[in-house]
Amino acid sequence: MSAKYGLILGAGIPILLCIIGLIFYISSRFSAARNPNNRRTNTESSPSVFPQPIVLTLGLDEPTIESYPKTVLGESKRLPKPSDNTCPICLSEYQPKETLRTIPECKHYFHADCVDEWLRINATCPLCRNSPQPSSAVADC
Ligand SMILES: [Zn+2]
Ligand SMILES: [Zn+2]
Repeated sequence: MSAKYGLILGAGIPILLCIIGLIFYISSRFSAARNPNNRRTNTESSPSVFPQPIVLTLGLDEPTIESYPKTVLGESKRLPKPSDNTCPICLSEYQPKETLRTIPECKHYFHADCVDEWLRINATCPLCRNSPQPSSAVADC
């Protein structure tokens, strides 16, 4: 009889502690969600309630950057537009086997490494900046 009670208590107390812990965890999550300073929208992975630095909100997220078309240069360095065979970000010429990324809106080419870094902090093309649509000001668009 007493051994049976001991077994129930031995199993019951840790479960009870888990439930209490869970309740505290959920209630703290709810109070964090009500916090007006918490303006997280799509960064569920970060439990921080501090406001995000502004630079991070301007850039694109990794899946968006990855969705931009990539081109690996062959030995012939074939480019749809042979005129711009220089990366506008690092100003070095594209080499065979290098991976380029295209901005779909304006068809500008950059090194994938260079433009990935750029797009994480800026959501616009480094060449066109404020004009995603080709304009007369950008001759080679
Ligand atoms: Zn580059
Ligand atoms: Zn562009």
